[in-house]
Amino acid sequence: MTPFSYSRAADASDAVRRAGVESAKYLGGGTNLVDLMRETIERPAVLVDVTGLSASIEERDGGLLIGAAVRNTALAEHLAVRERYPVLARAILAGASAQIRNMATVGGNILQRTRCAYFYDDEGSNCNKRSPGQGCDAVDGFNRMHAILGSSPSCVATHPSDMCVALAALDGTVHLQSAKGTRTLPLAGLHRLPGGQPEIDTVLESGELITAVELPPIGASTLSTYRKVRDRASYAFALVSVAAVLELEDGLVKDVRLALGGVAHKPWRALRAENALKGGPATLRAFREAAEVELAEAVPLRDNGFKIELARRTIVAVLGELSGEVA
Ligand code: SF4
Repeated sequence: MTPFSYSRAADASDAVRRAGVESAKYLGGGTNLVDLMRETIERPAVLVDVTGLSASIEERDGGLLIGAAVRNTALAEHLAVRERYPVLARAILAGASAQIRNMATVGGNILQRTRCAYFYDDEGSNCNKRSPGQGCDAVDGFNRMHAILGSSPSCVATHPSDMCVALAALDGTVHLQSAKGTRTLPLAGLHRLPGGQPEIDTVLESGELITAVELPPIGASTLSTYRKVRDRASYAFALVSVAAVLELEDGLVKDVRLALGGVAHKPWRALRAENALKGGPATLRAFREAAEVELAEAVPLRDNGFKIELARRTIVAVLGELSGEVA
């Protein structure tokens, strides 16, 4: 492990002040960052512990304001989350193990890095995300877990978070603080597609700190859920996951928000499918047609062509479950 300085921030302004150098990193639960530091894939000179920042979950304008230091377990167990935002509770509980969820924070979950095996193989594999310009061994390698949407020749990695998929479907907003001040960003706009710079995961500026996530109000008749398809029942990353938020009226889709996990470099908001569904009938046929529209531009790699049909079927199954139309 490369030597680094460690300090614990008293509040967000203090954290931003302490992280005043380019190579500084904020430390939440450490469930991903510490692994990356042990493998020398991340080499921060300065580590600022932000677990002492806000860990509260508060009512805000009919929605919820969730501090970035809230642990994943606490968020999934919170009564308001379970009752009003079950898609979020289910997504968190589908991720990792109980021990990791007890440690992991909201801010750290959002900023965790891909689990592409080549990214972690510092000694034996080429990876543009770890070492820009080196090449990507996943493109022609073992790529069963990799992306089918929005990838580039530079990188075909997927974003690993379940929680972020639910936050994208819920139209969550991320609160940020830096030396320049504060700002907010839609969660769905925080992570980026790889393009020619896969080493950059998000649109965050240097030193910018996630201080909270805000959820908008949700209607009493709005239904939501999360389904994760994976190789084993627990402690596995998604092959495909779907977060869905659905409001019906007289058998028609009044509003729908869909996000996919395990298919792209970022939580994938399925806007094409949403537009195809809005105002139309809540039938299995309509769900299938919308899923086909969304996956029309999917590009399979050698080992992951199955994800395209899996994503279609999972969208139909989730919407069928929420609407009462059994798939
Ligand atoms: Fe690296 Fe991305 Fe290629 Fe994986 S897919 S080896 S993270 S460049």
